[in-house]
Amino acid sequence: MEHVQHWINGQLTAGAPTATAPIHNPATGEQTAELALASSADVDTVVASARKAATAWRSTSLAARTKVLFAFRQLLAAHSDEFSAIITSEHGKVLSDAAGEVVRGLESVEYACGVPDLLKGDFTEQASTGVDVYSIRQPVGVVAGITPFNFPLMVPLWMCASAIACGNAFILKPSEKDPSASLLLAQLWKDAGLPDGVFSVLQGDKVAVDGLLQHPDVDAISFVGSTPIAKHIYETGTKAGKRVQALGGAKNHMMVLPDADLDVAADAAISAAYGAAGERCMAISVVVAVGAIADPLLDAIKSRIPSLLVGPGDQDGTDMGPLITAQHREKVVDYINRGEQEGAKVVVDGRENTSDSGYFLGCTLLDDVRPDNVAYTDEIFGPVLSVVRVDTYDEALSLINAHPFANGTAIFTRDGGAARRFQFDVQVGMVGVNVPIPVPVGYYSFGGWKSSLFGDTHIYGPEGVNFYTRRKVVTSRWPDPGSSKIDLGFPTNG
Ligand code: NAD
Repeated sequence: MEHVQHWINGQLTAGAPTATAPIHNPATGEQTAELALASSADVDTVVASARKAATAWRSTSLAARTKVLFAFRQLLAAHSDEFSAIITSEHGKVLSDAAGEVVRGLESVEYACGVPDLLKGDFTEQASTGVDVYSIRQPVGVVAGITPFNFPLMVPLWMCASAIACGNAFILKPSEKDPSASLLLAQLWKDAGLPDGVFSVLQGDKVAVDGLLQHPDVDAISFVGSTPIAKHIYETGTKAGKRVQALGGAKNHMMVLPDADLDVAADAAISAAYGAAGERCMAISVVVAVGAIADPLLDAIKSRIPSLLVGPGDQDGTDMGPLITAQHREKVVDYINRGEQEGAKVVVDGRENTSDSGYFLGCTLLDDVRPDNVAYTDEIFGPVLSVVRVDTYDEALSLINAHPFANGTAIFTRDGGAARRFQFDVQVGMVGVNVPIPVPVGYYSFGGWKSSLFGDTHIYGPEGVNFYTRRKVVTSRWPDPGSSKIDLGFPTNG
């Protein structure tokens, strides 16, 4: 049995674990490895190593840092297939989807390669006579990143690429469900020339997270995961005086207006609802059908589902893999049961497509879902698409704006005016116009509103650089020795 360890001070270490957890292949249900869960002593060890490394790394020139980032980018790209295989074996998503995750993660590294430009400050000459004012950005110090199971490579890259480029040391606490990608990531950082201790991996669960949250030598926390944990992280971390960004769960609505192209909308709904078995924070989980398009749209979605092949992610031709764990599949099935009991019509029933080996569950399509139905109110995080029928654009908009989750949304229409109005009216952080999964490119930033994000900073891109740096403003005078005199008056500009 393989033992998945921590990565501290540039090498694998078993640490001083008090507990372990099994890792499973979701496509077979078999245990493939055992994970060391960090103890509080391990938290102290990793933070001490990161603190020491942070001091030297912030003094390393931008030219030297950039060389490491470019080398890291090349190594990541060269190991894309290896990453995809690891992700599929522990997460279950199909290989092509895993390869897409690598590509989107690379975007964050490519953005960070421009760090000399990103860290440039402002300069004002002669703000007052003989006085110049300028701003600089400095790293915050030691950053911890706590990440979810559904993107075991991309989400860590959202964080660590910019954090490290900005001169911080970074400690990754990956999901305990699919932790192995984190160790290849660590090895590639080292191979790229990153000094030991600047990137570390602490494997673990709540003990590790709570240790990082309370540790006085951790300066900032980036979190991505479910909303209840995001709220806990934000409240605990900020109370302990840390800078925290905490991204939470989602319930993403796709509004389809009567004039939308039916096939385009149906293809988009299928792809965004069932891709990665619905285990994406930007998955579409609700279609809001406006007016007369509801019946033909439902038929078009329903007719496409039988063509989707559910199976192991590493098998050719598979469209959708298993769910992450047996417990999560039970939870998703329970949501379908309760949704049906509360009045939703099960048009396609994924419960009929399960298997004893592996955590498979078929695609489910629910119609006539009402806003008080649990299948509508809660994030299910599985292959379940709910259709809500409304008569008007205003009703559809009110529904979306009333939902506590506000991560992503999309409108499907041929009417540019309606789309423009939607982008103005909708209270959601990321909006797609005829684009069902509007994950911003790496040089914008990613984040939802309301219960989908705690804190005020989105992740990666320019807001990532803001989060990982502290700004300092310097007011400077170089007196001409010949004109120096004593003046006890309050300094004014002149
Ligand atoms: P999760 O909240 O269960 O776990 C996320 C991280 O928190 C993991 O590292 C886990 O070990 C840790 N954790 C779990 N319980 C904890 C506790 N009680 N105390 C301290 N730490 C704890 O999330 P998940 O199931 O791994 O991922 C799925 C969730 O993540 C979904 O809700 C999804 O919407 C969300 N997500 C959001 C985004 C986004 O950008 N907004 C992106 C990806 C996933």
